[in-house]
Amino acid sequence: MPNQTIFVSDIHLCKSRPSIADAFINFLNKTNNQVDALYILGDLFEYWIGDDSKQHENVIQAIKKLTDRHIQVFLMHGNRDFLIGSEFEKKTGAVLLDDPTVIKIYGKRVLLGHGDCLCTDDIEYQSFRDKIRSESWKNEFLKKSLSERILIANEFRKESELNKKNKSLEIMDVNNEAVNQTLIEFNYPDIFIHGHTHRPNRHSIKLDGHQIERIVLGDWYEQGSYLSFNAHSIETHQV
Ligand code: MN
Repeated sequence: MPNQTIFVSDIHLCKSRPSIADAFINFLNKTNNQVDALYILGDLFEYWIGDDSKQHENVIQAIKKLTDRHIQVFLMHGNRDFLIGSEFEKKTGAVLLDDPTVIKIYGKRVLLGHGDCLCTDDIEYQSFRDKIRSESWKNEFLKKSLSERILIANEFRKESELNKKNKSLEIMDVNNEAVNQTLIEFNYPDIFIHGHTHRPNRHSIKLDGHQIERIVLGDWYEQGSYLSFNAHSIETHQV
């Protein structure tokens, strides 16, 4: 087996779904030394209210075990866990990446993102995103007590569920023009990998004479999935 790199996203770990946490920890523990790196492209957690919150200690330990074995773990913020910070990096040995980021692996230029920025048709979500991702909002939020923060996080989750019911599937998917703009901005990568929409698929795109593949990762609500990437092949797997 050649060395490979693994990509996952949208695990949405949450106390109310312990079987997914078990499945994910099991997946981490089984990651062998042929894996060069693991990329978690956002929404590892259903919500993250700050590194001081003592949430998901078992997951933190499982990631730490990987980095202790010199398997690199990279993490990107999702819309649910954008408050993961430097304490989390220290505890796990994982490295936070900007969204988006370009990496070069096995001779390919690969653009990585969480994917929520691409959903530009959802104007309401984008303005909410702008608000809560501002430094002032984040600072105010982190100053609140843990119990207050949990209340607010649960309010957001409820609203998000309600919004999903009232919005068409089209509005909540990526906007193709936003995808193309991003691909142009990052100078036509070979591959674009993201999550967020929970619509796992592989799309082939022809843009200005470039052939690009956009890979959408699956979520871990019902079952897990991951993408393996090596010098010869890129494959999706179910857990
Ligand atoms: Mn998301």
